[in-house]
Amino acid sequence: MRVVIIGAGPAGLTVAETLREYDRKAEIVLLSSEPFAPYAPPAMADHFLTGRNETLFWKGEDVCGRLGVDHRANVRVTRVRPASRQIVLDGGETLDYHRLVIASGSSLYAPLPGRDLPGVYDFKSLTAARALVERGKSKAGGKAVIVGAGFIGVEIAILLRELGLAVTMVEMADRVMPSMLDSETAEIVLAAMRELGIDVRLETKATGFTGKRKATGVALESGSGIKADVYVAATGVKPHIEFLGGSGIDAKWGVLVDDHLRTSVPDVYAAGDVAETFDLLTGKRYVHAIFPNAVTQARVVAMNLLGYDTVYPGSETMNSLKHLGLPVMAVGAMKGEEELRSRHGNVTRKIFLSDGRIVGFRLAGDISAAGVYRSLMIRRADVRAIGKHLLDPHFSAGALALEAAAARLDLRFAA
Ligand SMILES: Cc1cc2nc3c(=O)[nH]c(=O)nc-3n(C[C@H](O)[C@H](O)[C@H](O)COP(=O)(O)OP(=O)(O)OC[C@H]3O[C@@H](n4cnc5c(N)ncnc54)[C@H](O)[C@@H]3O)c2cc1C
Repeated sequence: MRVVIIGAGPAGLTVAETLREYDRKAEIVLLSSEPFAPYAPPAMADHFLTGRNETLFWKGEDVCGRLGVDHRANVRVTRVRPASRQIVLDGGETLDYHRLVIASGSSLYAPLPGRDLPGVYDFKSLTAARALVERGKSKAGGKAVIVGAGFIGVEIAILLRELGLAVTMVEMADRVMPSMLDSETAEIVLAAMRELGIDVRLETKATGFTGKRKATGVALESGSGIKADVYVAATGVKPHIEFLGGSGIDAKWGVLVDDHLRTSVPDVYAAGDVAETFDLLTGKRYVHAIFPNAVTQARVVAMNLLGYDTVYPGSETMNSLKHLGLPVMAVGAMKGEEELRSRHGNVTRKIFLSDGRIVGFRLAGDISAAGVYRSLMIRRADVRAIGKHLLDPHFSAGALALEAAAARLDLRFAA
């Protein structure tokens, strides 16, 4: 069996690794448009802040050699031709496959005029991140402006601050990380960012990057502009699907897959940020672009390629913020029919409930309860009987075990 995998990110590499674990003979070709060994994007900030390589190259830089995987770096797939079971590379070369996995991830989504001007940086790949860090280092003591205060934008702001730049962020929403945090948790994060000296401007919409041959400013809807030495776009991500045009593989925002992560074309699967799967709790179609989903999907794809009938349970929404000096965790929905809340200084716990079940939670300052909440959420456990004990600072796995035992015995805690 010859399996060709497009993309050597966490999803692509995990498909290759899982396949190899069960099949010593399969020919596995892993294609990457970047020149590096497979890496983990969540570790990029740490890599640049500390110089550490271990978490960046999370399976070791020699992983493909060890696994006997044919890793071809610096090649870009430009077309997929399912009728002849071939893909086309940017040099015009074609590659045959028996099974194809699309694991091409996502790239920056910045629908802003001037986004392609030289001098506009992003942090979506190791190639892009290196260029940004080099520019940041060469402009230490100067100014940076970041458009977008989402999760990746905040990571960039902290990094550029560490590199010695004065950082301004513009965000059109009324809070930082608007798709991830409720307003109260966002307030705590905003205060921590301001403590670090980051100038965050909310409800400030950028209308584009200005300049003729290179970026010379950020234009704002108010009519004013911001000049800086380093310009960064951090406005979102979009699945890498451009090369699928004419292939017959159905895609909307991402590649549409079924519950076995098969695409609309036989023997072609998709996993990771490129795949439009469905939410574990709501069943709604969505691209959940986070690392754990990419890895779980990749394992499901590999098992199906191996002939095991494996169903994907659905994606989770989950994110954590590192490097802020304050742990923050966001899981699931941002509101529910009911809300449980506690706050002691910066230590905040907010749990959102619908129909007596946890549908999401936000934690700041202390995230030790995250595992227990998540477990209750995924099990769709009825937590009405536990009630406000969920917010107890000592609420822990012990409480979970007790709750499970009580449920079995049909006992209930006094709320
Ligand atoms: C700065 C940053 C921080 C993050 N932090 C977190 C975090 O804390 N927690 C978390 O859960 N998630 C985090 N994420 C998201 C996480 O990194 C992604 O969900 C994960 O990397 C998805 O893996 P993937 O393999 O699907 O895609 P990617 O990692 O995007 O890898 C896809 C690869 O395919 C290659 N490729 C694309 N098109 C082609 C083509 N045509 N031909 C050949 N190769 C191609 C790309 O170059 C890329 O190397 C973060 C992402 C970034 C950028």
